[in-house]
Amino acid sequence: MQIPFFQRGVRINLTSRDIKFETLNDMWYRKFLGGKGLGALLLFNNLGVSVDPLSSENVLIFLTGPLTGSSFPSASRGVVVTKSPLTGTFLDSNIGGNFGKALKSTGLDYLIIEGKAERPTWLLISDNGIFFKDAQAIWGKSTSETELALKKEIAQRGVEVAAIGPGGEQQVYFASIACGQRMFGRGGAGAVMGSKNLKGLALLGQSELPWFKSEAFLIEAKKAREKLQSNQSTKKGGTFPQYGTSFTTAVTNSMGVLPTRNWQEGVFEKADSIQAEEFFKKKGRSKTCYQCPIACSMIMKPESEIDSESAMRRPEYETIYAFGPNCGISDVDTITKANHLCEEYGLDTISCGVVISYLMECQQRGIISDVFLNPLPEFGDADSLFATIKYIMENGKTDNPLAKGVKRLSEAVGQGTERFAMCVKGLELPGYDPRGMKGMALLYATADRGGCHVRGSTLRAELLMNPKDRFMYDGKAALAAGMQPIYAMMDSYSGCLFSAFALTIDDYAAALSALFEENITTQDLIDAGKRIWNLTRYFNCREGFSRKDDMLPARLFEDPVPFGPTKGQVVDRTRFEAMKDEYYKILGWDVKTGAPIIDLEEYTI
Ligand code: SF4
Repeated sequence: MQIPFFQRGVRINLTSRDIKFETLNDMWYRKFLGGKGLGALLLFNNLGVSVDPLSSENVLIFLTGPLTGSSFPSASRGVVVTKSPLTGTFLDSNIGGNFGKALKSTGLDYLIIEGKAERPTWLLISDNGIFFKDAQAIWGKSTSETELALKKEIAQRGVEVAAIGPGGEQQVYFASIACGQRMFGRGGAGAVMGSKNLKGLALLGQSELPWFKSEAFLIEAKKAREKLQSNQSTKKGGTFPQYGTSFTTAVTNSMGVLPTRNWQEGVFEKADSIQAEEFFKKKGRSKTCYQCPIACSMIMKPESEIDSESAMRRPEYETIYAFGPNCGISDVDTITKANHLCEEYGLDTISCGVVISYLMECQQRGIISDVFLNPLPEFGDADSLFATIKYIMENGKTDNPLAKGVKRLSEAVGQGTERFAMCVKGLELPGYDPRGMKGMALLYATADRGGCHVRGSTLRAELLMNPKDRFMYDGKAALAAGMQPIYAMMDSYSGCLFSAFALTIDDYAAALSALFEENITTQDLIDAGKRIWNLTRYFNCREGFSRKDDMLPARLFEDPVPFGPTKGQVVDRTRFEAMKDEYYKILGWDVKTGAPIIDLEEYTI
């Protein structure tokens, strides 16, 4: 079956094995751009209310953005959208590497996966057709083993495989999907894939992408590349190419906002031993995403493994925080191995690290519970860290709440431990303590997929540019309300967030104008971001979320940071609620309920 270009999406039903190609009116691309935005629109229109995320009724949508697959630099991310089993909210998660380009090269902008396969299945998606394949022989295999097995079976150049590991098969609520050592990490899309008995997708596209070859577009792509190559942070030898996000540990530790031992402290006494340089010393080679000159990723030594599918990758800052200071670990190799285990099992590292740090604090406090494993892991102990990661992976389908995230786990344990279950709406928190950066408190509380650092981030605004203001509340509502739609916009046109160190929205507007041969302004893009942010909020409200759920763990309101540059700080409840009032007003949402006031027609396909 040939997939013509004008049919931009496909709906694959795993139950009935029906395959239907479909086209969306161009208007929807103008309004929602692609990626996250288009995924939100499709999810909203294809999912009933209160659907169990792990039932066959949930849908899993893979998408590309309008620039994906082009020579425009750092703009080829792929996106998955679904309803999250971890939070019950809207979920979008994006991935670098080659996934997006590979999907686009099949001639498709998106895949909607519906239903549930009768037995373990993988899908071959190529421009020669879509084929259902038996996955019995690879069920139980790690993500890299699966990738290798499918590539071997297809035996053609250019194939990319996105797969779940045992964590997804077991439906661990924070299971991820891997592709070429990159992850759709947060929120449990891997569990949704596992619940559908879908082990993997192999993408084999060889379609030409002629619309990316116009002269005007190529000029914009070249200009953007030159900007990236001359910016301090993104040029060769700059911060990102050398250290990726691992440089952040030094910043957060020096400001006292590096969550340590399950957020009991904000400074890690052994932070020097896990600084960016320590990881850099073990460099094997750099790795990059499709058409990105930054190359912020790094494969670690040993030499013998550098080019294998299962070589160890340098962990991102969030993973360094989650398995490092947060678990009292000060050893580069331990953090790297914990990251690697999660990638092979297919688990989100932030969630996994925070579940384990919660257990470690229970151990520290002598809290005993039937729902725990025995013995409990201890702060600073590598062996118990590794053993717990494995135990979580194995217990997804059991009644043990360990694999269902820290919110459910703490509710099962009780004994007041909910106050130090470090999550928002069930999504475990990333590595920036909002007691020392009040804008982050509001961003975590209101992010559409739960506590998240990439739905707006005040790292630059509060820590790097304006550190004197970081304990203040004034102006932070406007900062958050302005930032979130911009991040939604970037996740929709498939731009990498790190490119924002060198590129502006104007650069993207110029590229999209050249691509679509019409005038697309910066304001058009920001308006699309607002539309998308309203829609994901509306989706969550339709699922029963409201203002009361825009809430932080009690520890952040009640336990002052004990020492360091953030000493004595909490998030003040009254000021926090006042920030929320202002934030809802700015976005035009109902202040009492936090619900957006929208014209549904604008969102109904
Ligand atoms: S900056 Fe890093 S994550 Fe972003 S596109 Fe480039 S290599 Fe990928």
